[in-house]
Amino acid sequence: MNDTPSPPRKQRPPPKEAFIDAIEHVSPGLIRISCSGPELAQFAQPKPAGHIKLFFPPEGVVWPSKDPASEIPRPPSRTYTPRRFDPAQNRLEIEFVRHGQGLASSWAERARIGERVLIGGPGGGYPVPEDISDIVIIADESAIPGAGMVLEALPHGCRAKVICEIANRSEERALSPSVASTPVWLHRDNTSLAPSALLEEYVRSMPTPASDAYFWVACEAAAMRRIRDLLITKHGAERTRLHTRGYWKFGETNHPDHDYGAD
Ligand SMILES: Cc1cc2nc3c(=O)[nH]c(=O)nc-3n(C[C@H](O)[C@H](O)[C@H](O)COP(=O)(O)OP(=O)(O)OC[C@H]3O[C@@H](n4cnc5c(N)ncnc54)[C@H](O)[C@@H]3O)c2cc1C
Repeated sequence: MNDTPSPPRKQRPPPKEAFIDAIEHVSPGLIRISCSGPELAQFAQPKPAGHIKLFFPPEGVVWPSKDPASEIPRPPSRTYTPRRFDPAQNRLEIEFVRHGQGLASSWAERARIGERVLIGGPGGGYPVPEDISDIVIIADESAIPGAGMVLEALPHGCRAKVICEIANRSEERALSPSVASTPVWLHRDNTSLAPSALLEEYVRSMPTPASDAYFWVACEAAAMRRIRDLLITKHGAERTRLHTRGYWKFGETNHPDHDYGAD
């Protein structure tokens, strides 16, 4: 996948426009951006760990055009988690991992109050099973916003074990302001390990979870596949209890991972 503009597709709904009203450097590796605006009155309440698309038109290009005959191509987009939406204020919070050179990550580093944001969605999300009483949540930095949403959607009394891989101790933070959790934090600490390798290692050696446990896994795409295999072959997890997502792929731009396993 690359950033070649795709031809205009008129059947898709136009993005919603909002404007940045707060920027918070939550930790050295994470920027939280809030945006609001009247068009977010049309934004549906996102499902747990749902997604949005953020569009990045080139400098000077006005997109979408008001002219229905316009052939301006759809600009590059990236997938993010609508971490918190407040319908009373038409306000949306998004958390960006600062991972280096990416279009979206670099945009977040340069973002300014008042800047326009173009948002598609929300869509997708984790349908929390009705009979859930145990869940294992496995996430890298990019999936911590989604993991927080899943925690907030669990029924009262559901036990959640949370395992997160992060760069180092300074990235530890509460996953949710309203739901307490004590994640197992796995620190890369400048090692040259492959992304999400610590998650994989942890899953390989952890005690087998309860047989009726569900699993929510989101991290680097190749590691996600290995983790899914371990859950099935080593821990005997049923595929129907797994919700696994590759959130990005090492060395690939805007990787659209459509391998959802069997769920
Ligand atoms: C459903 C869903 C929800 C997501 N939610 C979030 C979210 O809330 N916050 C968030 O930060 N990300 C989230 N992601 C991941 C995000 O879409 C990708 O990280 C995306 O590639 C970032 O775009 P970019 O323009 O910054 O980098 P790209 O231009 O896509 O990639 C540039 C380079 O950076 C590498 N790269 C991309 N992402 C990462 C990363 N996280 N760590 C290290 N290297 C990376 C790529 O392999 C590539 O080599 C989500 C993904 C999905 C599928």
